[in-house]
Amino acid sequence: MQHFIDVILPIPLERLFTYSITQAESEFLKAGMRVAVPFGKTKIYTALVFEIHQQQPTAYEAKEIHQILDDAPIITQTQLTHWQWIAEYYLCTLGDVLRAALPNSFLLESETIITKNNDKIINDADLKDEEFLVYEALHHQSSLKLHDLINILDKKNVFSVINALLDKDAIVLQEEVYEKYKPKLVRYVKLNSNYSESEKLQQLLEELSRAPKQRDVIMTLFSISAQTKKPVKVSDLSEASDASPAIIKTLIDKEILAEYHFQEDRVAYSGDANEASKTLNTYQEKALEEIKQSFETFNITLLHGVTSSGKTEVYVKLIEEVIAKGKQVLYLLPEIALTTQLVSRLETYFGGNVSVYHSKYSSHERFELWNNVLQNQPKAQIVLGARSSIFLPFHDLGLVIVDEEHETSFKQFDPAPRYHARDAAIVLAALFKSKTLLGSATPSLESYYNVKQGKYGLVEITHRFNDVLMPDIELVDIQDKHKRKRMTGHFSDRLIEEMTEALSVGHQIILFQNRRGFSPIVECVTCGHAPQCPNCDVSLTFHQFKNELRCHYCGYYTAMLKNCMACGSVELDNKGFGTEQVQEEAQALFPEHKVGRMDLDTTRGKFGYDRIITAFEQKEIDILVGTQMLTKGLDFRNVKLVGIMNADNMLNFPDFRALERSFQLMLQVSGRAGRTDERGKVLIQTYNPHHRILHQVSTNNYAEMYMEQMDERHNFKYPPIYRLIKITLKHKDFNKVNIGAEWYATGLKQVFKSNILGPEFPPISRIRNQFHKNILVKIPPQQSLSKTKKAIVKINNSFLSIKEFRSVRVILNVDNF
Ligand code: ADP
Ligand code: ZN
Ligand code: ZN
Repeated sequence: MQHFIDVILPIPLERLFTYSITQAESEFLKAGMRVAVPFGKTKIYTALVFEIHQQQPTAYEAKEIHQILDDAPIITQTQLTHWQWIAEYYLCTLGDVLRAALPNSFLLESETIITKNNDKIINDADLKDEEFLVYEALHHQSSLKLHDLINILDKKNVFSVINALLDKDAIVLQEEVYEKYKPKLVRYVKLNSNYSESEKLQQLLEELSRAPKQRDVIMTLFSISAQTKKPVKVSDLSEASDASPAIIKTLIDKEILAEYHFQEDRVAYSGDANEASKTLNTYQEKALEEIKQSFETFNITLLHGVTSSGKTEVYVKLIEEVIAKGKQVLYLLPEIALTTQLVSRLETYFGGNVSVYHSKYSSHERFELWNNVLQNQPKAQIVLGARSSIFLPFHDLGLVIVDEEHETSFKQFDPAPRYHARDAAIVLAALFKSKTLLGSATPSLESYYNVKQGKYGLVEITHRFNDVLMPDIELVDIQDKHKRKRMTGHFSDRLIEEMTEALSVGHQIILFQNRRGFSPIVECVTCGHAPQCPNCDVSLTFHQFKNELRCHYCGYYTAMLKNCMACGSVELDNKGFGTEQVQEEAQALFPEHKVGRMDLDTTRGKFGYDRIITAFEQKEIDILVGTQMLTKGLDFRNVKLVGIMNADNMLNFPDFRALERSFQLMLQVSGRAGRTDERGKVLIQTYNPHHRILHQVSTNNYAEMYMEQMDERHNFKYPPIYRLIKITLKHKDFNKVNIGAEWYATGLKQVFKSNILGPEFPPISRIRNQFHKNILVKIPPQQSLSKTKKAIVKINNSFLSIKEFRSVRVILNVDNF
């Protein structure tokens, strides 16, 4: 009997691909293991076994696999089921999901190491020129990587040469490559146990009085251990005692110090002491009970708790119960880089049971955590992560928490799979028959609507912890202030007054400006020309710090112009304003105080955020200017004043979610004020002080905002009433996009009639030299989602089968944001 496997290839193929395997391989292989397989004429991929069977493919002859790469599955059956749901729901391929899910080191292909096959003698004459070049190189170097081959052969596609050499048995692909991760060992020292008695120790110290440097080392060791109550690293000891490695080595050789090693998990927490979690107040206690009750009826419950009501502490209690049962917990956060505070809070409660899955971690670190989760290790019992952590190989997931569930960054934008992590996490929890808790002070309309529809449970906390009052929110009419000359730059007299007062009593201030850069647009006063990006249809943004003009879409930059490119005039004006300008003006207004800035430009690198957050916490910064990064759950104790520099650019943003987003952003950033004892103050500067949303923000009236916005969504057929699928066509040829989009939309309109919007060019219709055109599919509540998707896929396939459209990129975005 013949045996076959269906595999997922890490490329966007619509179908699984079938390979033939031997009887022995069929007995060994399981779904979820990796195999190296040939694909096309030249390529070798790491693929994932999906199914083992005996059905010969009819359309093509199954090739043999190259190699089995795992001893046991690295993907669980539950994951495979979850991935299928993602692929189906978000209209992408399993290959797309595989790529997004696995840490890169699991999918090596370009990293593959090639070595000479020493068991076989090759006659040079049997090798073609290129093969000979590679083979020759392997005489000088024990191993080569793909990019070495690319250099040697001076061409990109080297797979055919590899395959030919493999055919001739001249080379082997090293399996080790797939396991190349090596745990990092760290050296520690402790006092040799001979000296644990105090007399012996006394004696030792006396002896060492003639070797003061060595004595110093011992004394430093004591003081570090006393302070940290943790194992002492050689590197820390050497640094703290200012002793050379030689002195420490002498002490080890004399058996005064004992050396030992730990495998340092890059993702593990180094502490051990678990602090008891906090005692809940009555509101929190009540919420906790209600959540548990709600879980009796609902798989999903929304915790709507005002900012600083202590939601985190409620989560902690739930987590305690789940891990006591030996189950795993997934704690999803919108942006992990911003959550150092939360991470350390959870680490003090759960010590070594918390692991963090971080997009800025190296592929090795992810690899390590992956294995810890897969093996159900205690240190990965609680995973704290951003959206991609829904792909981890959970074993026994007992609870999913989605913190700040309203955050739009849970939705993956590019590349596919364009999934919403909150929704995908709910599905994941359901596969484990577990519960999901969504938490927010400003729930998304989607989640609240699900509550109203009876799909989710709802629990509320309406009091801040310690009964601190919600901040006092004041609207400042800057049109009026301008008229009466009460503005200094972008600061109203009211804002300056409040700032002066806050600073005088040592309080800190947050200023929120929803734009980065200094002054987004430069405009010629004479002719009105604004410098444009050569690759995209946007104006360039002025960044004062480097005196540059930058494109926020493609990264293009150029030095700031000295005169207008169109008319040559030297009078260039700044329109609009960004965080950099707010920072500069604040500094000029308050020269005695330190003004910091937190936005994409100041937070690059793995620890970029930590630096600024810590500096603010340590009160090295008095005034922090920032973008929406500031809204994400930060807990600063000393902030009493929040200034929103300009509410209008949020309210006027051209998107059906703009008002909901504005409400959420403003309430969240207001929530940073007065979190501990005294009531905080918030000033919102605006040209539209009578805007409904601003009133709803200032009265913290979620219910009214919900009702009014839902009315709009109803009337204009938008989510959460209707569902949306956005189809974007991209091509560098304007006409192709234009004609293609018409064709596509006509096809859709035949099926869906008036529920198709567009095709339309987006406000920025050219990015990186590609023209974009959008079509929006609106799906009424009673229309079947899966049938709709099937119809779209059918039209999509016909579209791509037309020769002139084949090169057009089509992006399907389900539930787009
Ligand atoms: P939220 O997530 O709802 O905005 P947090 O959980 O961050 O609120 O709590 C706000 C502040 O109150 C934090 O500084 C937290 O340490 C403190 N806090 C919350 N609950 C308690 C409690 N039960 N005991 C002591 N402090 C608490
Ligand atoms: Zn650009
Ligand atoms: Zn000009």
